Amino acid sequence: MRNASLLTLGGLLASRETVSAATVTNHPTTQATQAGKNFGLQIYSLGRELDADIPGGLKKVKSYGYNYIELAGYREGKIHGMTLKEFKKICDDCGLEIRSTHVNPPVREYTKENKQQIMDYWKETAAAHAEIGCKLLIQPGQPVTRNTADTQMIGEVFNGAGEIAKNAGLKFGYHNHDGEFSFIKDDTKQAIFGRRMIPWKEQSQYQIVYDNYLKYTDPALVFFEMDVYWTVMGQQDPVEYMQKYKDRIRALHIKDKAIFGESGMMNFETIFNQAYANNISDFFVELEGIKKCTQFEGVKGCADYLLKSDFVK
Ligand code: MG
Repeated sequence: MRNASLLTLGGLLASRETVSAATVTNHPTTQATQAGKNFGLQIYSLGRELDADIPGGLKKVKSYGYNYIELAGYREGKIHGMTLKEFKKICDDCGLEIRSTHVNPPVREYTKENKQQIMDYWKETAAAHAEIGCKLLIQPGQPVTRNTADTQMIGEVFNGAGEIAKNAGLKFGYHNHDGEFSFIKDDTKQAIFGRRMIPWKEQSQYQIVYDNYLKYTDPALVFFEMDVYWTVMGQQDPVEYMQKYKDRIRALHIKDKAIFGESGMMNFETIFNQAYANNISDFFVELEGIKKCTQFEGVKGCADYLLKSDFVK
């Protein structure tokens, strides 16, 4: 499912003291905010079910309690078979803000030679999303990462994307899966997943890919949208990361292996508490393909869980 989603969707350490005063985005108060809860949805969670009736489906999403969405599947000017402007009109009509979008450049391996091709992609994509007032431009697919030099090149490309996004009035971010918590060093031929794959005495020689992405990107140009579930699947603690990188991790994917409240894997209370302490205000619920009910029912189940949870604001 993870790979399917990738296909479908197309060194400065952060100072611990200086949490950026500005959250990633500032948003007007909506009715649902006044009701006390404010969270959004990554529409990838609806899968193809959304295509049956896009206006009706998005209206349902709003009625479940979601106030904003993050797009997925933008390609050559279109999303779900319509132009971005047509899609935005539908969102406007039902009161859903398009706050973010997940988009991947056309190549997965970054080199000096194809950097310009990637930048051209970001220019077009940033401009198209700026036109509909989208604020966050987020890459969800991991570039090929085998060793330290790869992470330096990726940092350079991310910084370039960040500059382009900034010039267009957006912020560029990176969204993780579990592979970003693999280990690399200068001469690894491929990243190594799982701490136990490396002899204990040698572990200190390795770097975590995600940490290098943080290290080699400019905090003024690149932020991180942490997918808390995939971080756990990567054998790491999302709360620890949020504590360590307060001004870098500025948005979250709220996700579990199932409909929220059903698994024992995720401690959402601790996650939300830390996120609010860090002034994070962009929360995107994500639900991968489930079998027990429709995606719409699952997405409603996740919203119901958040609405009845005292720790969600
Ligand atoms: Mg995610």
